[in-house]
Amino acid sequence: MRSYEKSKQAFAEAQNLMPGGVNSPVRAFKSVDMDPIFMERGKGSKIFDIDGNEYIDYVLSWGPLILGHSNDRVVEALKKVAETGTSFGASTLIENELAKLVIERVPSIEMVRMVSSGTEATLSALRLARGYTGRDKILKFEGCYHGHSDSLLIKAGSGVATLGLPDSPGVPEGIARNTITVPYNDLASVKYAFEQFGEDIAAIIVEPVAGNMGVVPPQPGFLEGLRSVTEQYGSLLIFDEVMTGFRVGYNCAQGHYGVTPDITCLGKVIGGGLPVGAFGGKREILERVAPSGTIYQAGTLSGNPLAMTAGLETLSQLTPEVYQEFTRKGDMLEAGIGQVAKKYDIPHTFNRAGSMIGLFFTNEDVINYETAKQSDLNFFGTYYREMAEQGVYLPPSQFEGLFLSTAHSDEDIEKTIAAAEQAFAKLRK
Ligand code: PMP
Repeated sequence: MRSYEKSKQAFAEAQNLMPGGVNSPVRAFKSVDMDPIFMERGKGSKIFDIDGNEYIDYVLSWGPLILGHSNDRVVEALKKVAETGTSFGASTLIENELAKLVIERVPSIEMVRMVSSGTEATLSALRLARGYTGRDKILKFEGCYHGHSDSLLIKAGSGVATLGLPDSPGVPEGIARNTITVPYNDLASVKYAFEQFGEDIAAIIVEPVAGNMGVVPPQPGFLEGLRSVTEQYGSLLIFDEVMTGFRVGYNCAQGHYGVTPDITCLGKVIGGGLPVGAFGGKREILERVAPSGTIYQAGTLSGNPLAMTAGLETLSQLTPEVYQEFTRKGDMLEAGIGQVAKKYDIPHTFNRAGSMIGLFFTNEDVINYETAKQSDLNFFGTYYREMAEQGVYLPPSQFEGLFLSTAHSDEDIEKTIAAAEQAFAKLRK
């Protein structure tokens, strides 16, 4: 058995220092009934905890580390930049460089504004959509997460296309009422909501591949349907590509599925492991942002030189071939785990998009939050702990996807399949 003694001690101390002992709730491992594991270092596809345990890492800091931990080129570039100053609060050339690359790579983006997190990207995109259209309501999907701003921390009311309710104390009801929530992949509900409230809806915000209810890809026609209903009603379409951006494909999810939104939110991979987010879109819309326009948005550390460097060095290593490799490795992982799951008669469903992989413990199709919840969560918890014991670090929740990096080798995948086989064999005893 692995020892987690030092992590246990560190967590005991942390609980007096930070709410729940963590700086972000998912790190508390609550849904898998474990104490948090404190990490010390990472290299390539591996991560090491403070007790000296080694893991193959499929969390990758929740997505950003598409090149794996501590990529040589990224680290070298960061060292060089750090020696010349870490922040100026003034324009630097590297901001132009990253902006040019993003504009070149993301079909919808003609102009971009850098921020420091995904939450900032989505809340700024919503303010922009509301300011641009002069409307207050937005439509989002049940099970999609877009950061923790007030308008987006909303749970669905009961029934189809209801006005939202606060999902957290501190979110005013008045704000929640402007958020309409409908099931993912359900165009009929979207159309119904627009029939009721269409003239008041500023925007639809959607994860083009949902990654916060496990991985749930869009069904054929879903994104196209969102595009046409927003056009019909003069609303904007916002793709939250914080997770999918540069992960699902060379030109992001929008390139992959061939649907172009009005505004795109980015985060995670675009910062290569440093705090970066961005929102961008049509020039005509982005020019409404201050100081060229009147819709206010700002940031002391926005466009930070270290963060821009990590982003640029990361994105510039992502060639179309990298995504072909992700597909091959994903195929290998799915086939291997699928085979051992069958062998031990474990109900399972894989959902995949590029290097995002979702494994649910149900035989039913998973197309939205309701169906994702059909997965056997108890089974997931035991599976999770068993995989950790065997050195495979998975996201500690059924409702998060696994990520691949370019550093994951075939050998890593083979070891992961072998670990899953052992876990299933033990669980089926
Ligand atoms: N949007 C999506 C799709 C996300 O997955 C996340 C974070 N998991 C966010 C927004 C928020 O990003 P951040 O945690 O950087 O604020």
